[in-house]
Amino acid sequence: MTPQEFRHLGRQAVDWIADYWETLDSLPVAPQIAPGRIRGRLPDHPPTEGQPFEALLGDLSDVIVPGLLHWQHPRFLGYFPANASGPAVLAELLSAGLGVQGMSWVTSPACTELEQHTLDWLVELLGLPDHFRSTGPGGGVIQDTASSALLVALVAALHRAGKGSVRREGVGGTQYALYISPETHSAATKAAIVAGLGEQAVRHVATRPGTQELDVAELRALITRDLDAGITPLMAVATVGTTSTGAVDPVADIGRICREHGLWLHVDAAYAGVAAVCPELRWLNDGVAQYADSYCTNPHKWLLTNFDCDTFWVADRSWLTGALTLLPEYLRNAPSESGEVTDYRNWQIPLGRRFRALKLWAVIRWYGAEGLRAHIRQGIALADRLAGWIGADERFELRAPHPLSLVCFRLRTPPDADRNEANLRLLKAVNATGSTFLTHSTIGDDVVLRMAAGGVLTEERHLREAWQCILQETEAMQGAQAD
Ligand code: PLP
Repeated sequence: MTPQEFRHLGRQAVDWIADYWETLDSLPVAPQIAPGRIRGRLPDHPPTEGQPFEALLGDLSDVIVPGLLHWQHPRFLGYFPANASGPAVLAELLSAGLGVQGMSWVTSPACTELEQHTLDWLVELLGLPDHFRSTGPGGGVIQDTASSALLVALVAALHRAGKGSVRREGVGGTQYALYISPETHSAATKAAIVAGLGEQAVRHVATRPGTQELDVAELRALITRDLDAGITPLMAVATVGTTSTGAVDPVADIGRICREHGLWLHVDAAYAGVAAVCPELRWLNDGVAQYADSYCTNPHKWLLTNFDCDTFWVADRSWLTGALTLLPEYLRNAPSESGEVTDYRNWQIPLGRRFRALKLWAVIRWYGAEGLRAHIRQGIALADRLAGWIGADERFELRAPHPLSLVCFRLRTPPDADRNEANLRLLKAVNATGSTFLTHSTIGDDVVLRMAAGGVLTEERHLREAWQCILQETEAMQGAQAD
């Protein structure tokens, strides 16, 4: 493809995206197709001769789009939002065009330095502690996901706990324990599996009765039990904004216990952390400055930055880089050996790395602090409106506090025994309409429906339409039962 062809076709691709965003509202949010249907529409063999790019754009519209769950749809309210904003997407295109590899400082100095600078900006914007800045003992890095952040945090924790021995010899005969709650994201257990500790290392600390927050008395009891059994308590994960309900663990209380017993504290604020861009939500950071050894939040969820972009900070970078630094001959270079530069390959699992900072930089510059705050506040205001409608309808109950953009609720009827089944049936019926898309989780034994506001295109009218759809499907279900 010549630069002239690229220019011409690139305009068509950007137009295609703009048209997609403009007309999303008229598409069904979720595909209603059988497995294998999309593959059935693709040729069995790759083309022998090259094909025009226009043909690909045509197939994108005709074959691929009907098989997508439209995460940018204004009535997509499932999981958490996966914000893709204009400036982020344009910067992603620029990043792809530059095609740089930022594994070492020397392989593209601007790639590393923009990332350091942008993460320092984010420390300021989110009110995170100064020691997370690149100029202090810690520092920030963009990981692909919160799952990777958890894994590297665990590796750094092992490096610290074993005083360097784990890197050389593995965990050997030492038994380590990782403390999470039943509400912690499964990424923590996956990290334990990948790190070779096994699921047996994971302790599920109960939540405080009546809440979804980790019970610190239980944490203390489990740590004591492990110590008595000769097991080394390694790390605790505190979640700020759990996946199921958005609950916030008592980070400071957990942190005090970690400090007392030498555990690494990782704070997983994948969904909710970015909300601290609003000064009135800085309580989300309580305990982080005093106790967090590592912390992450995902601009790729709720901060207008398309996937993937997890921002991860450590209070003391020496444990992370001590665990992961390798300098094979083929990567040897004077700046790395001088120790004066940051080589981000030593802060992550892979070697190669994309220029992700560009999209985060673009988002922060385009929206400014006030624009970012307006986006977060809009998500919260919409969730509040929705909770008002739910609370006013006696057929439903709100099942968890909703301080941010996530609302968990449940159909009250029919009687207890069938209630979970009825809620799952309602979910299926609502999603089958194509008008909106929700997901579910459980609180204890109860199935709850989750609606997460905060999409880039979601306005109050979309939420009202989604609620109307839920009411209609509820009435249809209950009418069918009465017949
Ligand atoms: N942690 C929390 C609290 C989450 O809500 C999620 C995803 O929803 C994750 C971790 C995993 O995120 P990622 O896809 O970035 O690994």
